[in-house]
Amino acid sequence: MYEKINVDLMHNSGIRMVDLRSDTLSKPTMEMREAMYSAPVGDDVYGEDPTVTELEKRAAVLLGKEEAVFVASGTMANLIAIMVHCNQRGSEIISGDYGHTFKFEQGGTAQIAGVHTAVIKNNEDGTFNIEDLRKKIRKNPDFHEPISSLIIVENTHNLCGGKVLPLEWLEKVHNVAQEHKLPVHMDGARMMNAAVYLDVPPSRIVKDVDSVCFCLSKGLGCPVGAILAGSSEFIAKARRVRKAIGGGWRQAGIIAAAGIVALDKMIDRLKEDHIHAYQIAKGIAALNSPYFKVVLESVQTNIIIMYMDSRINPKYVQMRLATVYPTDPVKVSVRCSSRDDWIRFVTFWEVSDKYVKLSNEKILFVLKEIQKQVEENSQLTLRELREAYVKTVSIIEAKNKKSKL
Ligand SMILES: *Cc1c(COP(=O)(O)O)cnc(C)c1O
Repeated sequence: MYEKINVDLMHNSGIRMVDLRSDTLSKPTMEMREAMYSAPVGDDVYGEDPTVTELEKRAAVLLGKEEAVFVASGTMANLIAIMVHCNQRGSEIISGDYGHTFKFEQGGTAQIAGVHTAVIKNNEDGTFNIEDLRKKIRKNPDFHEPISSLIIVENTHNLCGGKVLPLEWLEKVHNVAQEHKLPVHMDGARMMNAAVYLDVPPSRIVKDVDSVCFCLSKGLGCPVGAILAGSSEFIAKARRVRKAIGGGWRQAGIIAAAGIVALDKMIDRLKEDHIHAYQIAKGIAALNSPYFKVVLESVQTNIIIMYMDSRINPKYVQMRLATVYPTDPVKVSVRCSSRDDWIRFVTFWEVSDKYVKLSNEKILFVLKEIQKQVEENSQLTLRELREAYVKTVSIIEAKNKKSKL
């Protein structure tokens, strides 16, 4: 019943859509919707929303931190963490160069927090070199320099393809941070995927960091929300900052109710998403194509990054995957995201076995077609493809409008 909600968009023409752009597309489960409907609520700015309070308490326990605060998004959680840890002017954070706060949060660190970022080159596994970290820390900054104030790590690492940070590495970062009395923040948007992958409790993943956030709205399926956790002192300050940036919300229990369901029901099942991602990756790897590559060992969680030959435009592959020509034997439209020299697929709870099979059929069909076109030098132009693409998308959107949930 659930799997009808988002993914199965049967049209009269028989086109089915599998949307693998992001796990943020996951929709709330029926159980979440029911919990939201009947949630007891109050004014959370007064600290009087019992559902928010319960979610925060449960999240703190799960993470083994003193307290937690419910916020609107992962971006807001990271910004608040940075503003609390870097509370003097001229502060600097140290981040991987592929870090989400550095690349994808509009430079909020600088724009809003007024904090400078020093970057270290990320390794392929989402870590950075400990020696590079040591070098980046400003030991006795004179008045020319900003003041090192925070180290940020990301787990799982989004741009590195959902890679899980090794626990030993986190311990090393912690030790270096301790030496220099610096706090560590984990952007753990998908840290529950990391816990499931390593088969350890979430509290183990965050043992070596001072603060952590995770998204409820990604693989965990909630409509909105993220959790930020740390010491009581840190969370008290975080609540102040949250209010200042407009994040004080009133009867937020309506959405916190979904968060409670997520903590109870949606964490363990992430392993299905990991299995599904691996199945998609295996299909691509089995092609053994010189043009398309996935590194199977690096598909640890729910993200697959597929690299391609420089003669192939990722936008073309993305558009072709989403397109169904009337003559195509496979009537499936697969959506994904693209960037630089790769495209990305992400699995989540609504992408069931059936949809994984459908997407595999489509992906393999398209990759073989493009491979042949490259070999025969007969690729279509983006413009030639676009018309069929637009038609397919409009068919799907028309159907989308009619679906109830
Ligand atoms: C998605 C994401 C965020 C931001 O979360 P939003 O809830 O979309 O604001 C932060 N960090 C990482 C690693 C993410 O993947």
